[in-house]
Amino acid sequence: MENKAMNQYVETTENSLVHTYNRFPVVLDRGEGVYLYDTEGKKYLDFAAGIAVSGLGYGNPEFNGALKAQIDQLIHSSNLYYNTTCGKAAEALKEVSGMDRVFFTNSGTEAIEGALKAARKYAWKKGTGRYEFIAMENSFHGRSMGALSVTEHEAYRTPFEPLIPGVSFARFNDLDSVRELVTEKTCAIILEPLQGEGGINTASEEFMKGIRELCDKEGILMICDEIQCGMGRTGSMFAWQSYGTKPDIMAMAKAIGSGVPVGAFAMTEEVAKYSLEPGDHGTTYGGNPLACAAVAKTIEIFRREKITDHVQEVGAYLTLRLKELVETCDGALEQRGKGLIQGLKVRRPAGEICAAALKEGLLVISARSDVIRLVPPLIVKKEHVDELMEKLKKVL
Ligand SMILES: *Cc1c(COP(=O)(O)O)cnc(C)c1O
Repeated sequence: MENKAMNQYVETTENSLVHTYNRFPVVLDRGEGVYLYDTEGKKYLDFAAGIAVSGLGYGNPEFNGALKAQIDQLIHSSNLYYNTTCGKAAEALKEVSGMDRVFFTNSGTEAIEGALKAARKYAWKKGTGRYEFIAMENSFHGRSMGALSVTEHEAYRTPFEPLIPGVSFARFNDLDSVRELVTEKTCAIILEPLQGEGGINTASEEFMKGIRELCDKEGILMICDEIQCGMGRTGSMFAWQSYGTKPDIMAMAKAIGSGVPVGAFAMTEEVAKYSLEPGDHGTTYGGNPLACAAVAKTIEIFRREKITDHVQEVGAYLTLRLKELVETCDGALEQRGKGLIQGLKVRRPAGEICAAALKEGLLVISARSDVIRLVPPLIVKKEHVDELMEKLKKVL
């Protein structure tokens, strides 16, 4: 496509959509492995993965083949009936998470809505009178009214207030600040074991274990949002698994469908027993055969290819190289995160750096205003990390 044609396309798009996104001026056209190509044929090294989604990268023949076959077999059936892939996907998620029961949604936000409702219903059925939620500062859980209510970001919240009452925010990694907020009305504590959007902040072991103990002692449910940090990204299938703790409810999305829109929330048998019943919650598309074929195949490939081992190895190398960069480059201030969800705190505004990186043929995203977020496809290799570092050095 000519540059003029691309500009025309951008203009038409902008004139047709509600202006809710500040998009970079690039029209992506196709992908291969860990590279994306725009309509001009320009090649980009992808360290964004469509915001931590495309774990398998682009054009995986086995994954694409499974989807194509499923399209020919059955795309949609609704939850009035069983279908052939929903149970398979649920079983696979149970096996990798150790949770007992799964509900499929179409996005991460919906997984959070469901998780919050499951916690409320549990308290209601047990007759505890508990309804309050404790969430964390710098959290991100989505932008629907429920998910936004537990998201601590003033700019996102203010125009839509009043939000759901009974939510308070503790300081991430500060157990005392959580304890201070607990009341006899506290229903659940919700947190990301590794905050993505909030700046790549990793929960300490003391914090995760402390929250679990606090929940057990006070009769509160622990909800982990694994939407961004889950599915192998930290080097364990779900981030909470590396802490020796287990939540009562967890939310998933992003990488679980390798790009097919799907989310899920899962719970222990104990929660399920006293929680959602027929009529309490539902979705027309959730658990749809195509989406579930994507989940089942993603997990099958991740397990066979031992993706978590690979993420640990390449992630350790990425950490090393980022720390080197912090030591040698004036514009790089701090390495954060682990596995293939890492951040680089920078001196200049992160948005500016992302735009400059785009020109260099590198896709990266920001987390808050001062952190470059690195969430590549999980199949990246060390040589791609080397290529990233070269490009980053130029941009910084
Ligand atoms: C992306 C994200 C969400 C929202 O997921 P959507 O699929 O965009 O609705 C919720 N929580 C976290 C941690 C996320 O990164």
